[in-house]
Amino acid sequence: MKKVTKKNAAPSLQFNTNWQYDPSPESTDHVVIDKQYDLFINGKFVKPTKGKYFDTINPARETVIAKVAEAGREDVDKAVSAARNAYDKVWSKMPAAERGKYIYRIARIIQERARELSIIESMDGGKPIRESRDIDVPLAAAHFFYYAGWADKLDFAFPGKKAAPLGVAGQIIPWNFPLLMAAWKIAPALAAGNTVVLKPAETTPLTALKLAEIIRDADLPPGVVNIITGAGETGAAIVNHPGINKIAFTGSTDVGKIIQKSLAGTSKKYTLELGGKAANIIFEDAAIDQAVEGIINGIFFNQGHVCCAGSRLFVQEGVAKTVIKKLKDRIETLIVGDPLDKNTDIGAINSRAQLNKIKSLVKIGVNEGGTMHQSSCSLPAKGFWFKPTLFTDVAQSSRIVQEEVFGPVLAIQTFRTVEEVIEKANNTPYGLSGGVWTDKGSKVFKVSSKLRAGVIWANTYNKFDPTSPFGGYKESGLGREGGLHGLYAYMK
Ligand code: ADP
Repeated sequence: MKKVTKKNAAPSLQFNTNWQYDPSPESTDHVVIDKQYDLFINGKFVKPTKGKYFDTINPARETVIAKVAEAGREDVDKAVSAARNAYDKVWSKMPAAERGKYIYRIARIIQERARELSIIESMDGGKPIRESRDIDVPLAAAHFFYYAGWADKLDFAFPGKKAAPLGVAGQIIPWNFPLLMAAWKIAPALAAGNTVVLKPAETTPLTALKLAEIIRDADLPPGVVNIITGAGETGAAIVNHPGINKIAFTGSTDVGKIIQKSLAGTSKKYTLELGGKAANIIFEDAAIDQAVEGIINGIFFNQGHVCCAGSRLFVQEGVAKTVIKKLKDRIETLIVGDPLDKNTDIGAINSRAQLNKIKSLVKIGVNEGGTMHQSSCSLPAKGFWFKPTLFTDVAQSSRIVQEEVFGPVLAIQTFRTVEEVIEKANNTPYGLSGGVWTDKGSKVFKVSSKLRAGVIWANTYNKFDPTSPFGGYKESGLGREGGLHGLYAYMK
């Protein structure tokens, strides 16, 4: 028999965290990004009235990607007039099946340009290309396909009711899923027969502007969709414009409250999808490795820039030690870095402001007595980055447990009984989502029926589908998007 020496020994099967993948960056050669973008109003790109532009930057490199127009009141007014005109003269009069054809066309062009859109999403927002390629862009197309199908079946969607659109919808979206949020908003609005003025977030306007090009290329009648860029003031001008019939907002709870106040007493309808502080609950009988992977996906997916992120973990005492050890091991293997690299798990934080917010809450967490554990990974010298972070020894009252960090930071607590964990999980001003990990179906039903949250995942996390409604309780918002609920929000 051959003697086994060090040289001819089989490679160790032991898990070795020292190896690294070779870089595998997505090529940007075929991506066309203009130096400057104007406002998409009435089917054309037009200059902002005051001639003001702002920079949109690549958060992984801190370089300017393009200049983008800042819409003032006059521009909002032009966009709303164009939408009203298109609603009165064209879109509300068009046979519903024809409307559907336009929406299908948008869906197909998104699919055709999927690669380009994914790259731009990752460049502008910092999210890993794997996510924009596999989640954001396919789901955006899926929403247009799904709602296109409803356009000529509205009377079947709501039996016994005569479905009628609301008119002009003002839509304001955040920076965490820029193209997908635009699809969530625009697709049901158009299918229901409304016209739209949409404003993307100021740090991620590029895929919405690409969508404007797609809408133009799909030959949508001018004014049916208007896409204008700018920051909070532009958003407020949309909210307060008297020509708007419905506001759909996704963003922070603070801004949601401002919007709700300014809409009180008006006839405008509104839906608000706001913050979250989701509880992920692991019971002792759960498939632990599957649960650990789900927890990792729930909080580190998109750098934790997800309103439904599973940012609080409740783990039953008997398995707490094991789960925490496995989580520590797993974050050590997460690859943090270039969003365009196909190996990357955690990309760049969206902006310096967001990075500062994460840093300040984490500091508060440490000062409050929490025990922090971070991955030992190194971070690129330029750009906005934050290491995957775990907190143990936190209290229900800790700010890191109560407040939305919107970053890759997980607060871990333990529990003994089902009643205790329900009480703890519901002890939050938010109620957007949650997760339950257990082998027992009955426990899933018991816990999920008692959690005050709009979406509960069982033995999985962060799964989305256009047919499924999404939205929150309490300070997480009002109304639902997705599915028939999402369509209903755009109808009289
Ligand atoms: P975040 O804290 O996640 O950046 P924001 O709520 O500040 O979320 O932003 C979400 C969207 O709301 C962005 O498009 C932003 O420009 C817009 N926005 C900010 N302030 C206001 C406001 N006062 N009225 C309307 N829209 C606003």
